Amino acid sequence: MKTAIITGITGQDGAYLSKKLLDEGYRVIGLTRSYNSINTQRLLHLGILDSIEIKEVDLTDFISVMKAVEGCSPDQIYNLSAQSSVGLSFEQPIGTVSYNVMSVLNILEAIRIVNPLICFYQASSSEVFGNTITEFPITESSAHRPASPYGVSKSTSYWLTVNYRKSYDLYACSGILFNHESSLRSGNFFVKKVIDYAIKIIQKKKTFLEVGNLEVRRDFGFSPDYMEAVFLMMHQPKNLVDDYVICSGSSVSLRQIVDHVFNYLNIPLNKIVINKSLFRPNEILDIYGDSTKAKLGLGWVYDKDFLDVLELIIDESVEMSSK
Ligand code: NDP
Repeated sequence: MKTAIITGITGQDGAYLSKKLLDEGYRVIGLTRSYNSINTQRLLHLGILDSIEIKEVDLTDFISVMKAVEGCSPDQIYNLSAQSSVGLSFEQPIGTVSYNVMSVLNILEAIRIVNPLICFYQASSSEVFGNTITEFPITESSAHRPASPYGVSKSTSYWLTVNYRKSYDLYACSGILFNHESSLRSGNFFVKKVIDYAIKIIQKKKTFLEVGNLEVRRDFGFSPDYMEAVFLMMHQPKNLVDDYVICSGSSVSLRQIVDHVFNYLNIPLNKIVINKSLFRPNEILDIYGDSTKAKLGLGWVYDKDFLDVLELIIDESVEMSSK
């Protein structure tokens, strides 16, 4: 039986990736920052909490990371742990950059020293490309011009991963994932926030939804499908290990999303209020990618319309809110 470590296992992607790896017969060990405040809700929801071993590890502490890698003897490490909110990274730039970069460096160093045969996956992000891109769609060869502390941290950790692959011949790769959503997404991210507020408006617990710039367009996909791509990236022959853009290939505006959620739940659109203080200091207006390389190299194909995905997430969220 192969062993996989997943950092950030308590998050959205950690839950779906754990399910995938368990289904594939892996022993899954999840790392969390703190047992005391651990959020097991997503793992419970997927019915996999009892199948996973969970360990508390501070990824910013090199000795702790070394001990975890030595003690668990993993075949693979999937690094999903991060301060993952772009908005919060403007409020906590130092914490975001230091955690998101040092955690990656510590894991790569531990792999290099303990066992260079361990395969490593780094959760990178489309936010590395920033807002001065003029050529669309974005591909693996588009320039990195991050426009937030979060984007900077993800670009740095991407290049660290490339460097360790090239310098030390490690199986180390990054998935450059565009936004991906599900009913397990944390409520501080746009799509889930809109859905949760809409449900609360129906339940009369909220009266309206405040939003920022609705003209912003993003390339959105479905998290479980994107975790399939991550799995494929980590199961390539060693000589083919590489980085891949994972995306839907088209963008939708935040206005389309809000309108679709409210219309689907029969809520009047005048319950949506624009608040300029929610506009970001340095916003990326439109971004969409091209995952042809993943299609050709990994056999990963994505053909879902995000408004259909949205309806599935709304239905699941309504069901979860009634439990
Ligand atoms: P989540 O925010 O849902 O989960 C990330 C996990 O990281 C948390 O559960 C938490 O686990 C851990 N963590 C470590 N430090 C912090 C911190 N300061 N604040 C909050 N959590 C922290 O992320 P996703 O599952 O959505 O994403 C997984 C990875 O993929 C992340 O690295 C993210 O940046 C990246 N990504 C995600 C995209 C998306 O659209 N979802 C797009 C592109 C990249 P614990 O508390 O148990 O330690």
